[in-house]
Amino acid sequence: MKFSDLKLTTPYLSLSPLFYDMAEPLPLEKPFLIAASQDAAKLLGVDENLYSDARLLSLVNAQTQLENSHFFSMCYAGHQFGYFVERLGDGRAINLGKVNGQNLQLKGAGLTLYSRQGDGRAELRSSIREFLMSEAMYGLGIETSRALALIGSETKVARERWESGAIVLRLSPTWVRFGTFEYFYAKGEYDKLQELADYVIAESFPELENEEGRYLKMYAKVVGNTARTVAKWQTYGFNHGVMNTDNMSIDGRTIDYGPFAFLDDYDANYICNHTDVEGRYSFKNQPGIAKWNLAQLARALSPIVSHEGSLLVLDEMFTAVYEREYCSLMYGRMGLFEADAEDVKLMEWMLGALESSVIDYNGFFRKFSRYDGDKSSILDSCVYRAPLDEWFDAYTLRLEKEKLSQTQREQKMLQNNPKYILRNHLLQEAIVKAERGEFEMVQELLKVALSPFEEHKELEHLTKPTPEYAKNRKLSCSS
Ligand code: AMP
Ligand code: MG
Repeated sequence: MKFSDLKLTTPYLSLSPLFYDMAEPLPLEKPFLIAASQDAAKLLGVDENLYSDARLLSLVNAQTQLENSHFFSMCYAGHQFGYFVERLGDGRAINLGKVNGQNLQLKGAGLTLYSRQGDGRAELRSSIREFLMSEAMYGLGIETSRALALIGSETKVARERWESGAIVLRLSPTWVRFGTFEYFYAKGEYDKLQELADYVIAESFPELENEEGRYLKMYAKVVGNTARTVAKWQTYGFNHGVMNTDNMSIDGRTIDYGPFAFLDDYDANYICNHTDVEGRYSFKNQPGIAKWNLAQLARALSPIVSHEGSLLVLDEMFTAVYEREYCSLMYGRMGLFEADAEDVKLMEWMLGALESSVIDYNGFFRKFSRYDGDKSSILDSCVYRAPLDEWFDAYTLRLEKEKLSQTQREQKMLQNNPKYILRNHLLQEAIVKAERGEFEMVQELLKVALSPFEEHKELEHLTKPTPEYAKNRKLSCSS
């Protein structure tokens, strides 16, 4: 199957007209294809080479349309930095329709009804970041929207400086957000809440379709999925940066990549978003904010789900699911496969020691996978050796309870501890090159993004440590 031969459906357009607005994209000038993810295309049942599909470029640039596709943008509200905004919506995203359970969306294809003061465009810089990070999160096993193609252009977009416009074609099983429910709750359109809940159940949780109490059960699914996704963020050191409720997917996957970052040196207080002065969305606050956002969703659902009931589900489930997922993943990263009640303390001690010793978070784990009793090479990477040195003595004792041989443990740990992480300094280098018209590094990063646990001998340069000046830097919102 070729991408350009796909036939779409548009189930979202069968909802009441308040849910969306038909859009008219404005194609970019002199567009060119920068990169495409063959792996993402598989989700659509596409097996033919994207690069040899002559119509791919004009389809991503909205100059032509797939069969039965209709352009529309979705309406939603949201809590931004804790404050409710009654109407946001897809200000620069235009939906195309759905195939194989994936909703196709162009980001950066021009103005929509919901653009407010924006220009409906996405900069090349932020589009490269979203394209690569969608695929990298998938590579790490973290639920996420995907990115199929990235195009650049000669269209100029005004930011702090003139930049060029780009479009990402992204995919998700759902683009409904917590904020979609909040929109109808705030307007008092309670019949629309039910209409939306039925749609979400059909789209994302079909197993609930004929269940009694299905709206509460749907809410419980959202709580569980969100808790598990955020547990994975914390496990791999991902800071999303803009956890507004309009950026929270109703099926709990990671969406809307803005000023995100992976931690360089471990720092629980890290804030990737430079407009986030108070640190509301700092790395360590993410689980608490996810829970706060879920409480907003509970309130928005209150006309159709008992508020008391949903808050009880939230309290009973969120922390329990989060901790179970986080601990199990972290123990896997630490090579602890036998259950031991003291492991939580050992893990917390490790995190404190990583912070005090000052060491790259993911770099540490990759080296740690090969630990054979000689800690010196790991300690050599620390600014201060003592805290981690002391911790290793306790860890080495704990290993006596493990049944696996060191080689077996190493093999498992290498599958849990990625060699390649799309650190911001690498993305930045790829962006600088792309702005000069060189796209090879985008291709290289795409390759390691999709298989971060494997060795890629020819791409060893992508594991170079973050330069001192670039460590844990903050990014602007439109990044
Ligand atoms: P974000 O927090 O980046 O997901 O965006 C918040 C809101 O602003 C959403 O409704 C976006 O669609 C909208 N938005 C962001 N950038 C632009 C832009 N350049 N043009 C129009 N709308 C935008
Ligand atoms: Mg958004």
